[in-house]
Amino acid sequence: MPRDLDLLKSVFGFDAFRPGQAEIVVAVTAGENTLAIMPTGGGKSLCFQLPALLRDGVTVVISPLIALMRDQVRALKAAGVEAGALTSGNTDDETDAVFAAISEGRLKLLYMAPERLASGGTLNLLRRAGVSLIAVDEAHCVSQWGHDFRPDYLRIGDLRRALDVPLAAFTATADAETRTEIVAKLFDGAPPRAFLHGFDRPNIHLAFAAKDSPRAQILAFAAARRGQPGIVYTATRAKTESLSQALREEGHAAVAYHGGMEAEARREVERRFQQEDGLIVVATVAFGMGVDKPDIRWVAQADLPKSIEAYYQEIGRAGRDGAPAETLTLFGPDDIRLRRAQIDEGLAPAERRAADHARLNALLGLAETPACRRQALLAYFGESAEPCGNCDTCDTPPETFDGTVPVMKALSAALRTEEWFGAGHLIDILTGVETDKTRARGHMNLPTWAVGQDMSRREWQAVFRQMMGLDLVRPDPARHGALRVTEKAHPVLRGEGKVTLRRDAIRQARKSRPAVR
Ligand code: ADP
Ligand code: ZN
Repeated sequence: MPRDLDLLKSVFGFDAFRPGQAEIVVAVTAGENTLAIMPTGGGKSLCFQLPALLRDGVTVVISPLIALMRDQVRALKAAGVEAGALTSGNTDDETDAVFAAISEGRLKLLYMAPERLASGGTLNLLRRAGVSLIAVDEAHCVSQWGHDFRPDYLRIGDLRRALDVPLAAFTATADAETRTEIVAKLFDGAPPRAFLHGFDRPNIHLAFAAKDSPRAQILAFAAARRGQPGIVYTATRAKTESLSQALREEGHAAVAYHGGMEAEARREVERRFQQEDGLIVVATVAFGMGVDKPDIRWVAQADLPKSIEAYYQEIGRAGRDGAPAETLTLFGPDDIRLRRAQIDEGLAPAERRAADHARLNALLGLAETPACRRQALLAYFGESAEPCGNCDTCDTPPETFDGTVPVMKALSAALRTEEWFGAGHLIDILTGVETDKTRARGHMNLPTWAVGQDMSRREWQAVFRQMMGLDLVRPDPARHGALRVTEKAHPVLRGEGKVTLRRDAIRQARKSRPAVR
């Protein structure tokens, strides 16, 4: 695995790059002058933090906001990275520690407010520090016509000339005048490598489906695209074997690919996929890094990925040539359980696990959004968009209904049992199913006992799933995944908020086989 991916996981705890990040990281690490334009919240900081770790020497980060710098330094230190800030808010001890780290050659990232550049001492310090890269956050602050103008940003050009190192500029402001000014003031007019593509891949059709009979669903999707090159992603190695076998039995050219295979066998699959027409690769996440095939026509995810980032990275392998491509993502309650368990059983610190749960929740929200799927996807990356007309929810807008009453019942069941139980037990309570556990705990005497008998167990599961997607309840790893009621649920409980649920998620639930408990 390349070193940047290693660090992405081990230092930052992310399992995939966000759109745009990988290219920027590669260019910045290679020492190119770069200007990257990304929406706020898109993930700019990683694009200089990761190269800072990959490069020798110190990366100076110029940022206008002291609070933001301190946050980033704190997070980096917590992840074991030598980072420090020189700001007016520093205590003497903090400043001494930064100087010590510099003189011992330990420091990797040095954050600094632009005002610092006004003092002659700073330049001397930076000359001695072995700076190998300058990163400029909120680079539009250099623009005299913008409302964020910071005169001291004009000193950055001098700094670059004095140190003669590459400079990477970042901003969310995309208009042409600002860009021209950044190039003039920060790069002396020599155009840097610019990254400003949006995240949207409009030629990729997006679709999710509830996982009813996964094998049949994948076979049907592949059958409708017979002869076209595609990838099926699955969560386990065993499934890559069984699904590729099933596809071959249907007459497709299909092979399995996973990290447990010999390197030689993996390269062979990569080579065949590149060269043959219409091969299907059934793979785990291990497949993709080395794949540079522009005409992949479809990607199916037989299991729900871990996060929106992972989702986007996998489906994003389709249609690189810009021609129409199609995707299908299956998800069901088992996926959610599996992903939750993976997070909880991992060795990551509690804070990181919570972030992983939140990222999974965001993906569940995307899976069950009643709105345009692309709009929801881009919104997650900070980009706004009109309904796209090229996703399943645009094709057939899902029917929604006011789910406030069932949601209130479910929340109340969780609260009455002091948030110590998972969806299964809460559904027993709501539907009035006596079990050893309900008897032992006397839960038949709760006011919420059997108040939800108007809906089936499957329907309740769909409600709980959507509640998780909406982040109204969240499993607590410290309580073996018992559902805790979140802040977001408070207005609903107070009768002030309405909850809109997707009807089809419920219908799917109604039409499929009875649930096994
Ligand atoms: P920006 O500076 O572009 O506004 P940040 O760098 O603060 O955005 O990132 C926004 C959020 O995205 C942060 O919470 C960060 O942890 C998260 N993030 C960034 N890159 C990734 C990634 N590859 N996978 C998951 N989350 C990410
Ligand atoms: Zn759409």
